[in-house]
Amino acid sequence: MSKRKNAITWDEYFMGLAHLSAMRSKDPSTQVGAVIVDTSKKIVGIGYNGLPTGLSDDEFPWGREGEVLETKYPYVVHAELNAILNATLSLNGCSIYVSLFPCNECAKAIVQAGIKEIVYEDDKYAETDSVIASKRMLKAAGINLRQLPQSVHVTLNHGE
Ligand SMILES: [Zn+2]
Repeated sequence: MSKRKNAITWDEYFMGLAHLSAMRSKDPSTQVGAVIVDTSKKIVGIGYNGLPTGLSDDEFPWGREGEVLETKYPYVVHAELNAILNATLSLNGCSIYVSLFPCNECAKAIVQAGIKEIVYEDDKYAETDSVIASKRMLKAAGINLRQLPQSVHVTLNHGE
């Protein structure tokens, strides 16, 4: 008997895990996941967008419009930053898999952490100042940017 031929690729595996991680997010409008992988293809960090540890998901706002202090924006930690902060080892030379192209704030953290490659799927905010600034920094820092040719879909039945 020969080996199974339709196993998922490494890219599909790590991006699939990013999507699975995103399912943990309480954000009603955007769920993002990130997985950091070292050069040996070992996972060294994983995260999703959410509030800092210890803050109640029920006491902070999740809206996108209105008074800034009553929106989610000042409070939410992005998936990429959470993955970096949750990391168990040095991230020098690692790749980060993220379902949505990183914003400029996450780009700074990615560069400072020593991550050398960003593998992403969606780039729907490409025209925003945040993502334009992000790409400017990432390219100047020599970070490899690689968009997957097709998106990965993960289906999970968790009893709903
Ligand atoms: Zn970000």
